[in-house]
Amino acid sequence: MPGFEVFGDEERKEVQDVLNTGVLFRYGFDQARQGHWKARQFEETFARRLGTSYCHLCSSGTAALSIALAACGVGAGDEVIVPPFTFVATIEAVLHAGAVPVFAEIDDTLCLDPNGIEPAVTPRTRAVVPVHMCGSMAKIEEIKRICDRKGLILIEDACQSVGASFKGKALGTFGRMGCFSFDPVKTITCGEGGAVVTSDKVLYAAADAYADHGHDHMGKDRGLEGHSIIGTNLRISELNAAVGVAQLGKLDAILEKQRLNKKVIKEALLSFSEVSFRNIPDQAGDSATFLSFFLPDEARAKEVAKGLGEAGVDGCFYWYDNNWHYIRRWDHFKSLSAAARLAIKDFDNCPNFMKVRLPQSDALMSRTLSMQIKLSWTEEELKQRIEKIRGVLAR
Ligand SMILES: *Cc1c(COP(=O)(O)O)cnc(C)c1O
Repeated sequence: MPGFEVFGDEERKEVQDVLNTGVLFRYGFDQARQGHWKARQFEETFARRLGTSYCHLCSSGTAALSIALAACGVGAGDEVIVPPFTFVATIEAVLHAGAVPVFAEIDDTLCLDPNGIEPAVTPRTRAVVPVHMCGSMAKIEEIKRICDRKGLILIEDACQSVGASFKGKALGTFGRMGCFSFDPVKTITCGEGGAVVTSDKVLYAAADAYADHGHDHMGKDRGLEGHSIIGTNLRISELNAAVGVAQLGKLDAILEKQRLNKKVIKEALLSFSEVSFRNIPDQAGDSATFLSFFLPDEARAKEVAKGLGEAGVDGCFYWYDNNWHYIRRWDHFKSLSAAARLAIKDFDNCPNFMKVRLPQSDALMSRTLSMQIKLSWTEEELKQRIEKIRGVLAR
């Protein structure tokens, strides 16, 4: 997830446009901004690129999730089905909306298992938020079919999978809304930023208003604009949007390089019979930010993770022991400690998260390793890297 690796003159030029006018606000100041509307430009380009109708650029991916939940009317009294393997922000957004996260199993795509959804449904279930983890996709068509049949709102967390697609259709465009992150370590970055996309005009208007105190953005004079809903401030600044405009222009080149580098590393692993690969439902749509694979059991996965670390192969993740991406280590939230209590609004209906059991997910995650794919590797570095990985696996 390496947008920061390609920061350069293009980003500096876009930011300089904004600095030259001094208009850092994304709305208004029509004269002073001399035609520069960076947030708006990003939104139009991104929506077109994804093949959808609307995009709202906001302050973070977490904000995007909050905006999507609010726009879809998900809140107190509702349950939202989520996977246990995600960045913890997905869960935080559900809690801050006042809803209760309900965990369902993942499958070998490392994303929400379509078969795990129905057993998790209760009369209170309102929405499903699958997460397209580590650059690749959930079985999104099947998930969408179940949501449609059950009358559940589908919101995609595509924060880690910008540029990825399933059968030619962009991830983030299958659900009623899709959420993206452009934080400093994502595939493209704004410094901090996020986006919600949708093909629904009404949802877009709600999202656009919610992120800016309910402003309808219809009037010319901001002071005279209507406020149809109570919102908050999740706006992006023009400086951050400007970085995003430049990065978006580099997305195709980033994807191409990632795919090339990933292919080379994957091919080097093919000869190790103990290694099997994450299920990617559409290989052509993989954004290739990570190579994820399984080892036969937990002990071997830990051994290989340790070996890779000692051999100096950086950017390897054993998520099962990781504080931020798998439920196993989210004690601050599961124990409903003081910090979690701040977010949980529906105590009466809050399950005991300590008792959540996800045997299928544990069995997968305890055997999973992921390797980050970088853009800046030289041919020589890539060669050395592969030699080290082979050395570790041959032991
Ligand atoms: C990064 C990320 C987020 C949150 O994005 P921020 O821009 O860092 O707030 C949400 N979900 C997933 C899966 C992420 O990887």
